[in-house]
Amino acid sequence: MADFFIGGQWVASQAGRTREIRCPANGSLVAEVAEGTREDTEAAIAAARDAFDNGPWPSTPSWERGDVLLRVAQLLERDKASFARAESLDTGKRLVESEYDMADIAACFRYFGKLAGQDSGRVVDTGNPDAISRITYEPVGVCGLITPWNYPLLQTAWKVAPALAAGNTFVLKPSELTPHTSIMLMRLLMEAGVPDGVANLVLGAGPEAGAPLSEHPDVDLVSFTGGLATGRIVAAAAAATVKKVALELGGKNPNVVFADADFDTAVDFALTAVFLHSGQVCSAGARLIVQEELHDRLVDEIVRRAERIRIGGPFDPDAETGPLISEAHLEKVERYVATAIDEGAVLRTGGKRPEGEKFTGGHYYLPTVLDGVKQGSFAVTEESFGPVLTVETFTDEDDAVRIANDTHYGLAGGVFTSDVSKAQRVANRLRHGTIWINDYHPYLPQAEWGGFKQSGFGRELGPTGLAEYQEAKHIYQNTRPGPQHWFSGDQG
Ligand code: NAD
Repeated sequence: MADFFIGGQWVASQAGRTREIRCPANGSLVAEVAEGTREDTEAAIAAARDAFDNGPWPSTPSWERGDVLLRVAQLLERDKASFARAESLDTGKRLVESEYDMADIAACFRYFGKLAGQDSGRVVDTGNPDAISRITYEPVGVCGLITPWNYPLLQTAWKVAPALAAGNTFVLKPSELTPHTSIMLMRLLMEAGVPDGVANLVLGAGPEAGAPLSEHPDVDLVSFTGGLATGRIVAAAAAATVKKVALELGGKNPNVVFADADFDTAVDFALTAVFLHSGQVCSAGARLIVQEELHDRLVDEIVRRAERIRIGGPFDPDAETGPLISEAHLEKVERYVATAIDEGAVLRTGGKRPEGEKFTGGHYYLPTVLDGVKQGSFAVTEESFGPVLTVETFTDEDDAVRIANDTHYGLAGGVFTSDVSKAQRVANRLRHGTIWINDYHPYLPQAEWGGFKQSGFGRELGPTGLAEYQEAKHIYQNTRPGPQHWFSGDQG
C-alpha cells in the first residue's frame, strides 16, 4: 500500500503498518491506508530538505510558482466531484457541504497563485546617497504542515497554497482519520508541475508520524491546526530548535444578539453558527449571548427550530447535518453535556443520540441547547466541538463585551444588531480574530484568519498568510566603498 508521497515517489510505510478508514455515517470501511512511523516522516523531511537546498523550486520566479498554483485551482475544479465524494466518505459530512468546500479550496489556490508574484520586496530610504538598502522576501525552508479532520482539504489548502507560493518545500501530515483528499491533492500537485521533493505526504497518528515535524532540526517552520492541548505540545517541541510556529487552535466563540436585532435573521444564523457540520467547526458560534429582554423569545424559537433539524449521512438528500467524526468524539461530547448539566445548565433540547435504524453504526448526536449556563463554568469555557449551544444573558453593551471576552480562546464571534454604530463599537472591542456582523461563518481567502489568546498565533489567508511562509531579509550595499577608519591602527 503506497500512500506516502516522498521525493516524488509513492512509497509504503517502512514498518508495513496500515489503518482502516471508516465512514462516520455508518461505520462502513472506506479503505485501508498506510500508517506512518517516525522513520517515514524523517524520510519525508530528508526529501523536502534536499528539494529545498538543491532543487529548483525556491528560486523559481514567483510568478511561475503562481502559475502552478493557478493550474492546481483548475485541476481541483476539474476533479471536484471525486474530491467532494472522498471528503464526505472520510468525514461523514453532507456531500453538498463538501462541494461548497471544493469551491473555497480552489479559490484559496487561485488567491495565492495571483498573490505569489506581486510583491518583490521593498527599497528602504537609507538617508545616504551612497547606500542601497532593500528588503527581500524568501521562503522559510522546509515546512511541517499538520492538519485536522473537520475540514481536511480546506485546512490543508490554507497551508499548502501559501507555502508553495512563497517557494518552500513541505511535509504534510493530515489527520489520521481523513487522509484521502490529501493523497488526491499530491497527484494534482504533480500534474500541475510541482517538482519532485517539494510536496511530501505522510499519514498516521500525531504522536508518531506528526511529532517529528515539530521536533526535527531540518524542519524550519511548523504550521499546526488542531486542538489546544496538541498545539501546546507542538509549540513546546518546536521551541527546542527555535522553529517558526503557527498555531490555529480551538475556539469558544461568542454569538452576541442584541434585542434590536432582526429576529428571524438572528434565529437563522444562531442555528447555522453552532449546528453547521454538527458543530465540528473551530469558529462555531457555540456561546449564544443574548440580551435579557430577548432571551425567552429567541431561545424558544431556536429550540423549536433545532428540534426540526434533519440528521443523516453524506448522501441522504433529506439530511441537513451529519454525524460526528468518531465514537470517541461522540463520547467526549456526551461527557461535556453531562458535566454542564451537573454544573446546573438547563437542558432545553437534545442531549442524546437520535434513535432509528438509519443511524446504526454512525456517530450521531442531536442538536442540543443548554440554557442558564454560568459565566466561567466548564460549559462556557471548554470547547465541545459538537452540536451544543450554551445560552447566557447580558444587560447592556458593556456587559455583552465583558461576557463575550471572558474566555481564554479568541478565534471568532458574531454580533447581531440593527444599530450600525453599536455593531462597529462592539466588533472593535471583542478580543477575537474574526468578527461577523449580522452574519456568521463567511471567510474570504483574501482576509486574514486566526486567533487571539489561546486560539493560537500567526495568521492564515490574506497577505499575512503568505508572509507566515516568508523570511524578510535586509540587503544593504555601500555603493562607494572606502575605509571607515573606525579603528585607528592603520594610521601609524
Ligand atoms: P488534534 O489536535 O487532535 O489533531 C490535529 C492534528 O494534530 C492531527 O493531524 C493529529 O494527528 C496531529 N497530532 C496529534 N498529536 C500530535 C503530536 N504530538 N505532534 C504532532 N501532531 C500531532 O485536533 P483534531 O481533533 O484533529 O481537530 C479538532 C480541533 O482542531 C478542534 O479543537 C478545533 O477547534 C481545531 N481546529 C481549529 C481550526 C482553526 O482554524 N483555528 C480549524 C479547524 C480545527
